[in-house]
Amino acid sequence: MEPPLSSLLADAPFLHSLADALGSPLNLLLPDRIAENADRFRGVYREHRLTGRVYFAHKANRSASLIRRLAVADPAAVGVDVASLGELRHTLACGVTPDRIMATGPKDPEFLWLAARTGATVNLDSPTELGQLADLVRKYTLPRVDVLLRLSAFETATGPGVSGVKALSRRSRFGSPLREAGALLDAAERHRDAVRLTGVAHHLDTTGLAEKAAALEQSVTVLDECRARGLDPRVIDIGGGFGVGYVAEAGQWERYTSELGNAVLGTRPALTWRDHGYGLRNEGGTLRGALALYPAHRPTAGPGYLDELLSHPSPASGRPPATLLLEHLYDLVCEPGRALADQCGLSLARVIDVRRAGHDSEDLLVRLGMNAGDMSLEEHGVLVDPVLVPRTPLPEQADDSGPAEVYLAGNLCLEADLITRRKVFLPRRPRAGDLLAFANTAGYAMDFRAHRAQRQPVARTVAVTREGASWRWCPDEDYWPITGTGGPTS
Ligand SMILES: *Cc1c(COP(=O)(O)O)cnc(C)c1O
Repeated sequence: MEPPLSSLLADAPFLHSLADALGSPLNLLLPDRIAENADRFRGVYREHRLTGRVYFAHKANRSASLIRRLAVADPAAVGVDVASLGELRHTLACGVTPDRIMATGPKDPEFLWLAARTGATVNLDSPTELGQLADLVRKYTLPRVDVLLRLSAFETATGPGVSGVKALSRRSRFGSPLREAGALLDAAERHRDAVRLTGVAHHLDTTGLAEKAAALEQSVTVLDECRARGLDPRVIDIGGGFGVGYVAEAGQWERYTSELGNAVLGTRPALTWRDHGYGLRNEGGTLRGALALYPAHRPTAGPGYLDELLSHPSPASGRPPATLLLEHLYDLVCEPGRALADQCGLSLARVIDVRRAGHDSEDLLVRLGMNAGDMSLEEHGVLVDPVLVPRTPLPEQADDSGPAEVYLAGNLCLEADLITRRKVFLPRRPRAGDLLAFANTAGYAMDFRAHRAQRQPVARTVAVTREGASWRWCPDEDYWPITGTGGPTS
């Protein structure tokens, strides 16, 4: 954890006063940090002398404060990627002008129309969508729309030792296969009166640098083909997926995952609820399967990963993507979600009670004022340990002062409602009234899956800013990053 997240987490009285007033669960966001993250991405562009925007993928977090904070960032440098009509409306209302908005994902007619009407760039998912958009533009006499063509199924070598063997990059339900690019370009030319082709896009769901470098290089080839046809596109949009490092120490992560394997084999005490294996299983004493977990430790993530990708030799030409982009004067666009939300927030849950997990069990079950929908860590395979924020300082020599092994249960009447299926190790046994703080949850964890089952409260979200030595906060929906409004200042 880095500042300001680490210092916010250290301020127990402030966290307790917020949770007392606003209830549990409670989400806290640090909007200034997302602007700093965007600057770091832009720093990588500057280093490689590249032009183009960094678009925040809105889907990672629903809140207003993060989007509004980006609205006041350099308009030439930072935009927002929206993947639904709701996200588009929200982003416009936050003050982000349409020239800085990229509409991605599959779109319904209303979403397409509003994007076209306002002048957002439309990242086209399919040839059908191109036809629908062109029809809308003609029918409602809209201005010509800037479009990118989203491609998928790039050719990629299948890994070390088999270089030269062509395979297709992982399948995606989104975008059009590269081999159909010719037909797509024909369609873009046919609809020239309604759309202006400004580039190509992709989003690969992988951490593999080689696969991403290959896709970028093949995108350059497609743009060259466009130019040969007399079109004038300039943008290569490489999507998101730059990642976050949730665990600082590689050794810690390796030790955890190998101990998890041992627990599945039964050669050490359980590390998970009812021996859940996270994809691993014990087949007659042999460990099988594969860990379905987010790689919590990443040697490089976020901007550092972008830098590595831009410097990685491309498979066909051997030249790094940064050089290819620079030589062709193409703009680089990226759409980080998780990586831009890194260190931007935390989620608080009140401890409701603590009891033995079963009559024959030494484990403790900690019931929280929160459920698995409020903290969708499991959904994404992300393992974040909570930080214990005691209600009152622990008296010396209390009989529960030693380390505790606990499971975290949610507030639903459902056996499956565990915040995480892992056993969590805390410095001491929590007590009713304490808070558990889940750090770094702004990306996908805090509100992606939140629901109203059993009429349990959905978390309120507040924006927190630093002012001198103290914190200021306001409801997320009241945050505006300008001075003199009574809200937080930036
Ligand atoms: C989800 C998504 C992103 C953001 O992905 P992250 O892994 O959060 O960076 C960007 N672009 C598209 C098209 C997406 O679907």
